[in-house]
Amino acid sequence: MTDILPSSPAASVVNAPRRYRFATEVVTVDNSDDPHNAASVPIYQTATFKQKGATASGEYDYSRSGNPTRTHVENHLAKIMGAERALVVTSGMGALDVITRLVRSGEEIIAGDDLYGGTNRLLSFLAKSQNVKTHHIDTTQSDSILPFLSDKTRLVLLESPTNPLIKITDIPTISKYVHERCPNALVVVDNTMMSPYLQRPLELGADISYHSGTKYLSGHHDLMAGVIGAKDASVGEELYYVINATGCGLGPFDSWLLLRGVKTLAVRMDKQQASCIRIADYLEALGFKVHFPGLLSHPQYELHKSMSSGPGAVLSFETGDTGISERIVEGTKLWSISVSFGCVNSLISMPCRMSHASIPAHIRAERSLPEDLIRLCVGIEDVEDLLEDLEQALNIAGALPTPTK
Ligand SMILES: *Cc1c(COP(=O)(O)O)cnc(C)c1O
Repeated sequence: MTDILPSSPAASVVNAPRRYRFATEVVTVDNSDDPHNAASVPIYQTATFKQKGATASGEYDYSRSGNPTRTHVENHLAKIMGAERALVVTSGMGALDVITRLVRSGEEIIAGDDLYGGTNRLLSFLAKSQNVKTHHIDTTQSDSILPFLSDKTRLVLLESPTNPLIKITDIPTISKYVHERCPNALVVVDNTMMSPYLQRPLELGADISYHSGTKYLSGHHDLMAGVIGAKDASVGEELYYVINATGCGLGPFDSWLLLRGVKTLAVRMDKQQASCIRIADYLEALGFKVHFPGLLSHPQYELHKSMSSGPGAVLSFETGDTGISERIVEGTKLWSISVSFGCVNSLISMPCRMSHASIPAHIRAERSLPEDLIRLCVGIEDVEDLLEDLEQALNIAGALPTPTK
């Protein structure tokens, strides 16, 4: 289609900077171009757009190249991410796939050593099939990147906090090292755990920030989406080219659901985070080893605080015994046993048995990923109910120092 007609720009336009505080901006969607003054951005459920004449093409021609519902959610997300350009695709992994297509055979990626499982899988695939090597480093030690930076470095892929070990990466320092030494390299941050409400990597020195929109941005576990934000319009244009060429742009209905979901990001996150802080304190007081950047005991508490406006709503803790952990997970009634996070409902999981099971056991051991680790992803239920349910599960599992009846 776009081979015949000039390709539809369908670009998210460069945005006006944020004018209000985040919670206001996130619920205020610009729909001023709507011909009927619709209060909610409509779903343009169409594959094609008619043209005025044989040579005159309108703004949109074909939904792979651009669709008004997708453009609206992209413009809105660019605003809240502080990006020059935002792009939405069919999943978080789809977002990383688009970004890694900027890397040519023979170039290199530097990434953390506690990455999301799917990210590891994609990087292994690139190493095998595209001759793109990834060096894994301990991103809690910023200097550990220095020996690997070279003129081959194309992407530096960071997460902070990591998941499930909740390790913190110094995004400004690593970005500075990369930009000073490798002008051709891009610093890319997977910001899924924090959401743009709590942390905006582009303001911290990164060139690209991406999210699994499946998590906090949409917030209800009812769609899959990936979101990419570029600081530089020309990088945004290169990414858009890949999306149009490969056809992974988010469909109109899912774009609409994402736009609907993201409006409540700030209220959801405030509630989820406040409850998570209560639960982290509760578990720590019982003597468990709790991984959560909101606890003063977290070794990188200050660093996390300097980059973000809150600790988020995901924590993990160790019980010291895999059997006990299994009984806790299975003993909860309100917490669903599920992978993923960012939903309004609370979730519990054992990463080594679930989300991270695809990482071979010896590598899990190398990365000191404890087999007994339990991850909690706190939702918006009443925190007293969440605590009571957790307590009865700890009790049944024999994990409480002084069991209650
Ligand atoms: C879920 C997740 C992804 C992948 O996103 P999908 O939407 O599942 O493809 C990437 N990074 C992190 C940190 C995630 O939690």
